[in-house]
Amino acid sequence: MSSELIGKRVSVLDKGYVELQDIMPHPLTGVSPDTAIASAARVSFLGESKGGEKDARLIHYLMRHKHTSPFEMVEFKFRVKAPVVTWWQWARHRTASYNAQSGRYTEFAEDEFYVPAVWRKQSPDNKQASLGELEPEANTELTQDLIDFYAQGFALYQKALRQGSSREMARLFLPGFGVYYTWIVKTDLHNLFNFLRLRLAPDAQYEIRVYAHTIYREFVKPTVPIAAEAFEQYQLKPSGVEV
Ligand SMILES: Cc1cc2nc3c(=O)[nH]c(=O)nc-3n(C[C@H](O)[C@H](O)[C@H](O)COP(=O)(O)OP(=O)(O)OC[C@H]3O[C@@H](n4cnc5c(N)ncnc54)[C@H](O)[C@@H]3O)c2cc1C
Repeated sequence: MSSELIGKRVSVLDKGYVELQDIMPHPLTGVSPDTAIASAARVSFLGESKGGEKDARLIHYLMRHKHTSPFEMVEFKFRVKAPVVTWWQWARHRTASYNAQSGRYTEFAEDEFYVPAVWRKQSPDNKQASLGELEPEANTELTQDLIDFYAQGFALYQKALRQGSSREMARLFLPGFGVYYTWIVKTDLHNLFNFLRLRLAPDAQYEIRVYAHTIYREFVKPTVPIAAEAFEQYQLKPSGVEV
């Protein structure tokens, strides 16, 4: 695994990003994360990684038989900027560790709101989902309405601050679901695979699915190519998830 991945930042949505901050095992140790998984499993026999094909077979065996704890030996730490509509769902993954930007400490900037590229229609048969897109005219109108709404909320937020309101109260005026927040998220690979299986799925909301895709494609797959191959074979494919 290349240490160049650490510090890499990939844009997501209109103003968000995912940045890889750290990995365990760190590249400087010279131990690949796939090897760390195999070595952890082999401690059952007081053994170590046997390398190459034998480690790959073992990792596939572990994934197939849900022998999950060796995957917990690999950890990822990300810095993520995402709108609240995404965090609302992400934060339900209780096994991750989080630290979040605080609207009590920091003042929000005017351009910190999510403007979707398209407006998706309500799915007729899945109450949680969307399907297809609105006609261009309605799309343009709603986008302008949203931008105006953000501007109005932000102007009231600034007015409250000017009048001496605390930041923690002034933020009541900010349109809550669209505002971007920056968080640090640390999780181990077993629980990250659980997050990815659920949030790469077609029934996950687009605004979290794009983050899951970025994490998987840009960071997880290049870091643990063998575990990722096993994950796709035994978890994603049986769930009908394409990546
Ligand atoms: C498509 C979709 C729709 C959803 N809709 C809703 C919704 O309408 N309303 C809603 O509230 N949530 C909803 N969720 C959130 C969902 O219920 C889970 O909270 C979320 O996906 C996190 O999954 P998790 O519990 O497996 O992950 P984690 O919280 O990371 O937990 C990982 C695993 O640890 C174990 N675990 C963690 N905490 C506990 C605990 N307290 N007790 C026992 N075992 C535990 C479980 O085995 C769990 O699978 C939705 C999720 C998805 C993907």
